[in-house]
Amino acid sequence: MAESSIEKIVSLCKRRGFIFQSSEIYGGFGAVYDYGPLGIELKNNISQLWWRAMTQVHENIVGLDSGILMHPKIWEASGHVDEFNDPLIDCKKCKGRFRADQHENTPCPEKPSKMVGQCEGELTAPRDFNLMFKTQIGPVESDGDVAYLRPETAQGIYVNYLLVQGAMRQKLPFGIAQIGKAFRNEIVARNFIFRTREFEQMEMQYFVKPGTDDGELNEWKEKRYNFYIQELGINERNLRFHQHGTNELAHYAKEAWDIEYEFPFGWAEVEGIHNRTDFDLQRHQEFSGKNMQYSDQVSNEKYFPYIIETSAGLNRMLLSVLSDAYWEDTDNNRIVMKLHPKLAPVKAVVCPLVKKDGLPELARKIVDDLKIHYKVLYDQQGSIGKRYYRQDEAGTPFCITIDHQSNEDNTVTIRHRNDQLQERVSIENLVTELQNKMDDYS
Ligand code: ATP
Repeated sequence: MAESSIEKIVSLCKRRGFIFQSSEIYGGFGAVYDYGPLGIELKNNISQLWWRAMTQVHENIVGLDSGILMHPKIWEASGHVDEFNDPLIDCKKCKGRFRADQHENTPCPEKPSKMVGQCEGELTAPRDFNLMFKTQIGPVESDGDVAYLRPETAQGIYVNYLLVQGAMRQKLPFGIAQIGKAFRNEIVARNFIFRTREFEQMEMQYFVKPGTDDGELNEWKEKRYNFYIQELGINERNLRFHQHGTNELAHYAKEAWDIEYEFPFGWAEVEGIHNRTDFDLQRHQEFSGKNMQYSDQVSNEKYFPYIIETSAGLNRMLLSVLSDAYWEDTDNNRIVMKLHPKLAPVKAVVCPLVKKDGLPELARKIVDDLKIHYKVLYDQQGSIGKRYYRQDEAGTPFCITIDHQSNEDNTVTIRHRNDQLQERVSIENLVTELQNKMDDYS
């Protein structure tokens, strides 16, 4: 872990096409990142695992895709208009803006050897800064036309929960899962994709009968923790829980836990598991005037369900996967992304040893056979060693090499990314061989 400084990961991500700084040709745009060809494959693979773990494995969890823009009253009801603030301070000298609760750990932009407040600059008193991005609906600018870019996807689930429940004939407990963009005007955004102003959340809101909420929270804590180990292949040493103390708890929460990962810059939250009580549903009933209670056909009662929320940042999860996978194989002078094959953006690269004697044609045919099953690439550029090392950095688990023997006996070599061992297999069995190796990977 100590070896993988964040700068090295940032540089590999750019070099190999995982992640780029937004608007780079204009000097970059603060705290927004673009996902390149490998980054989007990795992101999709992670979000598909999450979606499957929610909506496929649980019959009582269904999906939703609500709008980013919603009725502005939703954010008054949720408390975000009044409460979603960070304390902001200004430095009168350098004009920098910082979070009052973090300035002691933030280097001064003019004198990076000192922390903000320890340099000569005088700081203003803290004031509340609302993190929601405001925008305007329609062509006329007026207060009545204000809308917000959602700072969390959860509210889209709450305001739709009775429609979903009715349409899908769900009974408590049941969950609604959603993946989508969220926006927060973070005062200080840093640590690469860890804290950005535009990001993606994967949230599942689980509606339960009041009184069962403590037990349900414990179950979801365990399930979500295991997801990191069993599905993402994250090393358990780099994971831990952090429970919110009373001063940390959000205004809606009865109990809250973070799953933290040890990033190169230290332990930090990747996912929150919260008992949000019936706060949000009560407030939406109050602000909309519509009934938000659940009709329990079994007990013949009407009540507000409690909500257990699991809220993960897709980008932070991806950064934890990248940090965990980064390995400097100093013995062999190479960098390897030891991604689990199910997460790897490309599963195999097919390389003809030379660009003649029918080897490229055979390699192309193998690509055509494999690409129906999983993402593969063709690569004939550069020495074979360079091609292997490129794929090691991309996290590709297998390199398939076509050589002169391939023409004679219809076999190829599979070179394994982690230990660089090579084995010969017949072309006929290649699809199943690779599938078995991916399934057996540990
Ligand atoms: P933090 O304390 O780090 O600001 P938070 O407690 O405000 O996070 P939540 O509101 O619980 O975060 O959001 C749920 C998840 O959304 C977080 O665990 C994180 O993975 C992700 N997330 C929140 N803010 C950001 C951000 N600015 N950039 C990237 N991901 C974020």
